[in-house]
Amino acid sequence: MTKGNINVSVENIFPLIKKFLYSDHEIFLRELISNATDATLKLKHLTNIGESKVEYGNPQIEVKVDKDAKKLHIIDQGLGMTADEVEKYINQVAFSGAEEFLDKYKDAAQDAGIIGHFGLGFYSAFMVADKVEIITKSHKDDPAAHWTCDGSPEYTLEEADKTDRGTEIILHIAEDSTEFLEDSRISELLLKYNKFMPVPIKFGTKTETLPKPEDAKEDDPAPTQEVENIINNPNPAWTKQPADLEEDDYKNFYRELYPMQFEEPLFNIHLNVDYPFNLTGILYFPKMSADMQIQKDKIQLYQNQVFVTDNVEGIVPEFLTMLRGVIDSPDIPLNVSRSYLQADGAVKKISSYITRKVADKLKSLFNNNREDFEAKWDDIKIVIEYGMLSEEKFFEKAEAFALYPTVDGNYYTYEELFNKIKAKQTDKDDKLVILYASDKDAQHSYIEAAKTKGYEVLLLDSPIVSHLIQKLETTKENISFARVDGDHIDNLIKKEDTAISKLSEDEKKSLDELLKEVVPSEKFMIQLEAMDSDASPFMITQPEFMRRMKEMQQTGGGGMFGMGNMPEMYNLVVNTNSELVGEILNTKTRKKQERLINQSLDLARLSQGLLKGEELTNFIKRSYDMIK
Ligand code: ADP
Ligand code: MG
Repeated sequence: MTKGNINVSVENIFPLIKKFLYSDHEIFLRELISNATDATLKLKHLTNIGESKVEYGNPQIEVKVDKDAKKLHIIDQGLGMTADEVEKYINQVAFSGAEEFLDKYKDAAQDAGIIGHFGLGFYSAFMVADKVEIITKSHKDDPAAHWTCDGSPEYTLEEADKTDRGTEIILHIAEDSTEFLEDSRISELLLKYNKFMPVPIKFGTKTETLPKPEDAKEDDPAPTQEVENIINNPNPAWTKQPADLEEDDYKNFYRELYPMQFEEPLFNIHLNVDYPFNLTGILYFPKMSADMQIQKDKIQLYQNQVFVTDNVEGIVPEFLTMLRGVIDSPDIPLNVSRSYLQADGAVKKISSYITRKVADKLKSLFNNNREDFEAKWDDIKIVIEYGMLSEEKFFEKAEAFALYPTVDGNYYTYEELFNKIKAKQTDKDDKLVILYASDKDAQHSYIEAAKTKGYEVLLLDSPIVSHLIQKLETTKENISFARVDGDHIDNLIKKEDTAISKLSEDEKKSLDELLKEVVPSEKFMIQLEAMDSDASPFMITQPEFMRRMKEMQQTGGGGMFGMGNMPEMYNLVVNTNSELVGEILNTKTRKKQERLINQSLDLARLSQGLLKGEELTNFIKRSYDMIK
């Protein structure tokens, strides 16, 4: 037996490890299983190239809990280590690696909350164990070795009688870590970190129900048998070639990934690239629900089939973090802070690759089955519109598939819309006016007025639409968006400079004065318009600019501080050519004039849903008086 001192400069770094990595003790299991997997795959390689003469067979990794003896075993059938290799890889490599890790990251890691994304490796065993043993038999002819270390820099190394190839790691679980002696806890960790690792992992047994024999009676219980419990799927869908997968395989994998998710995904995107970086994965577009903010099922990040995190911020463009699925890449640096990640060149490339793939997929879905794409539009528009706003590249690509639905249920691309409306909806200044509504019912009369003119009205109702409109107006030339209830339709799309007015200048002046006296000026701006004589006499509108600013501020538009708190202001458009307005002007008694004005104002408010409470009561009372 040899005794030795592990060559580390810090007298005893174990307490340090414990302290700094306190919150993430659980990663030890992932690390040890990763090592067991590496050892198995290395052996596979050696046997493939003929450098190892052993039979590779069907190796497994086994995890065993021995609650009574307070031990946790991780056993593999990989390439094993000779005594010399234990000296080299465990005493030197693993320990110096851990020391280096501590030096470099102990502060940064804590700050950025990134502990657990590291490969702290074998050393992490000491976070939960006060003594660790390695019993290992190399695939070479050398005798087996037994290494023991109790957490001080001293270790012992002796020969062992293990005859079958591979490594067994035995953790003597420390008093403060007995949770790791519970089957349920180990199960939970295996499912979290190792569900898709490439070597089968066995943990205990499970009961399997067998088919009933032919001659079984009605209420005979179905026979069962105890079988090995393999916790992982070593060949998850994302590691396969897209050509080898059917639509159902993608759906099944979605269920495997999110067992508690019962809604089917809308469609998927298979990521597969090996140059200039390595990345595979499958992303799914879920049905977007109102409570997406608090969604638990997020995109999962793997490295070589080992789960790392479900925080993909910085790696996946923000607008796509609403998607689900997996990304697997060995090229994403994890031992750095999030802000560094965002500045990293390789990561930027990954992010723009993902954006491009998503855009390409959307484009091909649109081209291949437009009807289906239109049917899904409502569920995916948030992601697409958000992407158009936040990623210039995506905005350009989205030109080909972003849809603008009309109140009548037609879906146009921007180009189609443009061609459809440019003849009719271009105003006298050569500006194209795109009309839209946000609520079909509330804005019904305005929509009808626009349709009577032969105009198209879009239905734009997502929460960020005012931002998108702003973006389109600044990107496209000579266009503007106008909500149908923003003004009288003839004012929204102005065709001629002057309309003929029935009233003289003097009459207009006295009408204006009269209205200003009767109508509350803190709520309404009076706007006299010479319009069609059968257009509404009084109409309430809210200026596009003001409404949009308010909306944008509510959904997080910068630089407009205070707008959201501004009092509601409306325009009162008075049609000077209408018969009623003429009558108001010509009525002799002041009292009667006031009644007509108030009644007309209330009718205009009523059609905008603005008449409530006491004012509504007064209106009804006044109306009865008038028909008495
Ligand atoms: P890393 O895995 O990043 O190399 P670790 O600290 O996890 O670092 O492991 C150190 C080394 O110990 C490994 O590179 C490997 O050579 C050896 N090792 C650890 N576990 C095993 C195992 N189960 N079988 C064979 N070798 C192992
Ligand atoms: Mg390792």
